[in-house]
Amino acid sequence: MKILVPVKRVLDYNVKPRVKADGTGVDLANVKMSMNPFDEIAVEEAIRLKEKGVATEIVVVSIGEAKAQETLRTALAMGADRAILITSETKVEPLGVAKLLKAVADEEQPSLVILGKQAIDDDNNQTGQMLAALTGWGQGTFASAVVVEGDSVTVTREVDGGSETEKLTLPAIVTTDLRLNEPRYASLPNIMKAKSKPLATKTPADYGVDVTPRLTTLKVVEPAKRSAGIKVADVDELVGKLKAMGVAK
Ligand code: AMP
Repeated sequence: MKILVPVKRVLDYNVKPRVKADGTGVDLANVKMSMNPFDEIAVEEAIRLKEKGVATEIVVVSIGEAKAQETLRTALAMGADRAILITSETKVEPLGVAKLLKAVADEEQPSLVILGKQAIDDDNNQTGQMLAALTGWGQGTFASAVVVEGDSVTVTREVDGGSETEKLTLPAIVTTDLRLNEPRYASLPNIMKAKSKPLATKTPADYGVDVTPRLTTLKVVEPAKRSAGIKVADVDELVGKLKAMGVAK
């Protein structure tokens, strides 16, 4: 069984984003970039399925600038077998990514595609769902447990007030939530070994996909700065102030 795992290179989650002076986007020059955390969880889940003998091959794919190769090498060092880099110097929106992933899925015929539930840079939470629509495969989103048995996958999803369990027929699309697993770190020997694992480089044109953006970002602004608070002497003063503000009666 083959598993396809799309991984995105994003601003590292520890880095505080800086908005460009002209307000056109987030400044990505000279900042640490890493694999989207939900995609690390997706890679980890695929590796665990391979370790259990359920999966036989893990193919990772990334769409982005040439440097996304580093992200793919990280996934290979964690334990993926093979990588595909689809280069685009311009930003590819979720529909473009989903169309490219559909083309890769047509070629690779995976039984399972495991994506992150969302990329932490744009917070779209769209790609997995769009890919499910384009392929016509079932989708199990926000997965906190994944069990493959025969030709089906059982996905436990975290929903308001509990969990929901769904059974999907393979091939299927799963998107990962935070509690699915704790991703491993790649060991130094595996980082070295990953350098010689196969990595194919393609372009959107190779797949006949038009990735021209459909959206224009009008403005990106920093969150409003919080104004300084004040200290009150006691509860009576606090209640008095709240009453004056109309918050308490
Ligand atoms: P999004 O819909 O943008 O929030 O992304 C959801 C998931 O789709 C991510 O966690 C990745 O698994 C996948 N994805 C999105 N963009 C890319 C990309 N450029 N390259 C590879 N995978 C991507």
